[in-house]
Amino acid sequence: MKKIVALFLLASSFSLGQNAAADLQMKVKKTPAASVYICDSKGSVAYHNSKTCRGLQACKHEIKTVTEAEATQLGRRRCKVCY
Ligand SMILES: [Zn+2]
Repeated sequence: MKKIVALFLLASSFSLGQNAAADLQMKVKKTPAASVYICDSKGSVAYHNSKTCRGLQACKHEIKTVTEAEATQLGRRRCKVCY
């Protein structure tokens, strides 16, 4: 009888562990609203991971901090230099 209880405990703790792992994977997959930098110019097409990216150094306009989703909505793509 004791063996069965031990097995049951083992099985339940194992499934709990799996749930925790799945939970962690979800968190990793779901990228939080990361801030990116864009040059507020009509000519610029990219958004930047770093504010000090050399792609941004050429920006003569205002540098805006937006979320990656917002940048994508603005039609920007990832900068090849800092991504
Ligand atoms: Zn860049």
